Amino acid sequence: MVTNAPPFPDTADAPARCYALIPCAGSGSRAGTAQPKQYQRVAGARLIDHTVNALLGVPALAGVGVVVAPDDVAYTSPDARVRVWHVGGATRAHSVFNGLLALQGAGARPQDWVLVHDAARCLLRPAEVEALIDSCIEDPVGGLLAVPVPDTLKKADAGGRAHQTVDRADVWQAQTPQMFRVSTLWSALEAQSAEGFAGITDEASAVERTGLTPRLVRGSVQNFKVTYPEDFALAEAVLQSRRPSTQREDTE
Ligand code: C5P
Repeated sequence: MVTNAPPFPDTADAPARCYALIPCAGSGSRAGTAQPKQYQRVAGARLIDHTVNALLGVPALAGVGVVVAPDDVAYTSPDARVRVWHVGGATRAHSVFNGLLALQGAGARPQDWVLVHDAARCLLRPAEVEALIDSCIEDPVGGLLAVPVPDTLKKADAGGRAHQTVDRADVWQAQTPQMFRVSTLWSALEAQSAEGFAGITDEASAVERTGLTPRLVRGSVQNFKVTYPEDFALAEAVLQSRRPSTQREDTE
């Protein structure tokens, strides 16, 4: 369901605009929480609220679309730059694809940019988004935040034993936001829709399948995706450490 909110401001004559799109329709089964992890509170607010606030701190973004599950009533926002679309799907890629359709319905044009960002990456900072935009706005393809993998990587056999060490020299860990033209991402995802988006775990993986090579923009290791139960304490500690000492919550 796409609600009757007014479209984003008319951009017909404007140069390409940037929008954020947040897939927020997962169940977060690996997080071990009773409710979807994006609604878990850390450092005084829900993950999704931290995430949306970081994106609202980026003046270059013309609007933020949040994709929630069709029956989800947990997320609303009073901010005029935020739209909530109840079009979440079976996988993250389904949710992004449906959200991209809603974004276009709200006024985004093919040449506009969309920055897709996980709701569960609540440690994102506006400066990282601005660095991504600066690096990609003139790029013919677009790109994503990522960090070079620092650890040695192992391939496991069926018995859970290491049988191969992977050369990590050119291996990066993909993060979000991932920034592409609306037309580029739409056609890349549409091409994978008949196969149910099999193997599409981020936007770049769909774009790569069209033969394009997204730009890797170095991000911060703090922009991790809250995934496992122990990640909540880490997110809490990082968020608290960023606050002025007078505002820190007593978490003892
Ligand atoms: O489950 P995972 O952490 O990989 O999900 C990444 C992001 O994609 C989360 O913000 C989650 O809410 C979202 N997602 C979604 N629709 C799904 C599955 C995940 O919007 N069906």
